[in-house]
Amino acid sequence: MQQHSAQHVLSAAFVRLFNMPTVSFHMADEYCSIDLDSPSLSKEQVESAERLANEIILENRPVDLRFVTRDEAATLGLRKLPPTERDQLRLIDIHDFDLTACGGTHVNRTGQIGGICLRRTEKVRQGYRVEFVAGGRAVATARRDFNTLTEIAALFSAHIYDGPQHARKSLDEIRSLRKQIEQSQDELAAAQAATLLAETPESHGRKLVVRTFSDRDLNFLKLLGQKLTRQSPAVIALLATESPQPALVFAQSAGQPHDMGKLLKETMAKLGGRGGGSKDLAQGGAPTAQGLDAALTTAAQFLSR
Ligand SMILES: [Zn+2]
Repeated sequence: MQQHSAQHVLSAAFVRLFNMPTVSFHMADEYCSIDLDSPSLSKEQVESAERLANEIILENRPVDLRFVTRDEAATLGLRKLPPTERDQLRLIDIHDFDLTACGGTHVNRTGQIGGICLRRTEKVRQGYRVEFVAGGRAVATARRDFNTLTEIAALFSAHIYDGPQHARKSLDEIRSLRKQIEQSQDELAAAQAATLLAETPESHGRKLVVRTFSDRDLNFLKLLGQKLTRQSPAVIALLATESPQPALVFAQSAGQPHDMGKLLKETMAKLGGRGGGSKDLAQGGAPTAQGLDAALTTAAQFLSR
């Protein structure tokens, strides 16, 4: 009753203020919504309509019920004339504010609606959808919002109204740290590639680097594979990591004769994983870390034949 009566007041407010008719009304478990026939809807308009609707509620206007004939109704300037053929119409009259035909159950005075709070708006096919809550539901929603904001604020040891500022600052820090990590990873990969190349003897005119790491991610393996094969013109790198996700990266310097994509696919088939790539760089993920070393050895033997 509160939600439905609130809809009458709200729809009338949008017509009175901005000449935006309501074309449909929906009821969900936690909120209701109206669809407004309008090409645009600003935040200011939403707030004005909310203000007017709450003024009408505070004024505690009578809500009367009366029956008229269709012909009579046509002269009364109803907000909405129903499409039915019935001759008798049931009118809901919110004193000096809204007159419309409706068969539903309503409050006796607008004060019983308690209050109305407009929430999310969304562009829909025929205009704008406006979600709202009224009365007891508005209080329950405000309570839930407050609890949510309190939980967020506690994470930052801040006041609830400072939540957005703290969240923005944290996101900025995360972005900046991510950049720093990327740069460090790049430098680490370059240094590690130089070390690996220095300790790997040349054989058959190229260096074959085979290495399993315990805790590098796939991105780092790829980076290392790229550094190895670019720092020296004749390198083949068979790299694996056990965690956080078991993975393989095979890479060769441009101009080397093998097919890393094909070799990786074959290796992965034995490990029960999936992967692939180009002739010079391939990657894949394995279901477990078991057998990674043996798989690298097998692939290395294949290349040395
Ligand atoms: Zn109604």
